[in-house]
Formats: sequence, C-alpha cells, structure tokens
Amino acid sequence: MARLFQALFLTASATRVFASCAYGTHLMPRAEEGEVPISTFGYTGSIGPLNWAALATPDNNACATGTRQSPIDMVDSVFEVIPASSVTFEVNDMPDGAEFENLGSTVEVITQGGRLVLDNKEFALQQFHFHLPSEHLDNGTSQAMEMHMVHQSEAGEIAVVGVYINIATEAAAAAPAKRSLGSRSRLFGRQEAAAPVTGAPTTLLETIFGVVDQISVPGTKVKTPPLVMSEVVNLVKAGNFQAYSGSLTTPPCSEGVNWRVSTAKLAVSPASFTKVRDVIGFNARFPQNAPGEPNILMVSALGSAAAAVSVAGTAA
Ligand SMILES: [Zn+2]
Repeated sequence: MARLFQALFLTASATRVFASCAYGTHLMPRAEEGEVPISTFGYTGSIGPLNWAALATPDNNACATGTRQSPIDMVDSVFEVIPASSVTFEVNDMPDGAEFENLGSTVEVITQGGRLVLDNKEFALQQFHFHLPSEHLDNGTSQAMEMHMVHQSEAGEIAVVGVYINIATEAAAAAPAKRSLGSRSRLFGRQEAAAPVTGAPTTLLETIFGVVDQISVPGTKVKTPPLVMSEVVNLVKAGNFQAYSGSLTTPPCSEGVNWRVSTAKLAVSPASFTKVRDVIGFNARFPQNAPGEPNILMVSALGSAAAAVSVAGTAA
C-alpha cells in the first residue's frame, strides 16, 4: 500500500503540458513565430492518459474527475443527429500551402480561415490535426485515423468537427482519384447516411501526408503543397453530424466542447497510412464512459482501492 501511494505521489509532478488538441486556441495560445512546442504528455506509461491528471494538478483534474469526457463510443443513445447540410461549415483553401507541425502528441495543420455556426454562434477554425487510431468509436468500431478540426468562438468556447479516416483498398487507391471522388459525391447525394468505408484516397490527405516524413522529429515543421479544402467540406456536408457535448481528448481535458462527429469518412492510401503511422505512432485516448456517467478513472480507483484492501487483508 505504502509503495502504491509513493508511486502515485512520485508521478504527480507538476509538469506543464504545452501542446494538445486545443493548441492554437485560447487554452493554449500558439507559440511565437517559428517555434513548434513539444507536448509533455504522451500516450503510454506514466505520461499516458491513465495519469494525465497527475501531470498537472489542478489544471488537468477534469481528465480524472470529469463526467462528460471524450472520446466515447458513438452509439445511438449518446448523440443527436444533425444533417450537415443544415450547418454553416466553411474552410478556406490554402493556395500557398499551410504550416504542418509535429507537436510530439500529434501532427497539425495551421489553417487560414474557416467557420462553423452552431445555434447562431460562430466558431472560427484554428487548426486540424490527426489521431491514430481513431479516438471515437463508430458504434463500437475503431477506425484507422480521425481528423479533428478545432474551432473557437469569440467567447472562447470550443467546437470540434471529427472525421474518421479509413485505409483505401488497394484497388481504390490505384483508381484515378477524381473519378472515384465523383462517384462518392453522387452516392452521398442520394442521401445514403452511412458512407462506405472504403473509397478512393482523399486528395487532401494524400497531399498532406506526402510531406509528413519531413516532420518525423517532434518540434519540426514543413510547408505543405497547396491545399484544396472543398473536397473534404463537400464530403462532410453530404453526411450527418453526430452531436454531443464532451471534452478535449488531451490534457487539460476541459469540458463543454461541442463535438460534431461526421458520418462521412475520408480515406488514405495504404502507403500514406504507413507513412503517417511511422510519424504519429499512437495517439488515441481510451474511450471514456458515456456522457453523464462517473469518470471511468474514479470507478477504477475505487476498484483498485478495494483490491488493495483485499490484498492487505490476505497478507495480515
Ligand atoms: Zn484531437
């Protein structure tokens, strides 16, 4: 028991967390021009999600105590369905390319304008970044990756559009991207809510991941080729949003985040997936309890304490 508590206190050092899903918002203002900060939290061991709260208390307390934490398993009962076509969702193209940074915890594209309007409230797009594998589960199923498009309102509220990414089949990856994209659009146009998992690689992702190997070292950045955003916006707008109120999926795990998880799915070629996997490694927080239920770490702590008492009783 004593050793257990000693270990708990040892890991509770007041390390600052410098980069997260909210990097570039008021929660974590972007660093000075030229600097790419490296996250001090991680995804394994003592700096992993089981111990995020202890990395910076009380700032990260919500990670262990919050009752509306993300990601979650997206089953019917936890979200509201909103046709994306009814939502104002715009992303500016980046004809001169965009800054693409390796923050250690993710790889992130700094955007150049875009907006999302929810309940007459305007949120401005700040950045998008990637998780591997997906953080949300699509009705119990993990997806290859997930893109988070992070928006912020003037009042500092956060809204994130989450889009799953799957690996294109070899055949689809070999097909001309333009033609396949067109057929996907027509499919969506017929109001088929659940998009097929396998499709042609998304040109935007192929373009971005084409240079990901140039930022394999945390703290580095590269300029992408020109980025056309309409492809992804059109795909998302043709599907539905699964809406719920959750949290940042990285420290400080702040709640009140307006999640809009898209039913549209993007795709990467197998070669691009391997490339981005070799840079990201693994960066998905484990699924949290359903919104409103006790934080799973609190439940787990009670279980651990009961087990420790039982072991102590046996020893005595
Ligand atoms: Zn994220």
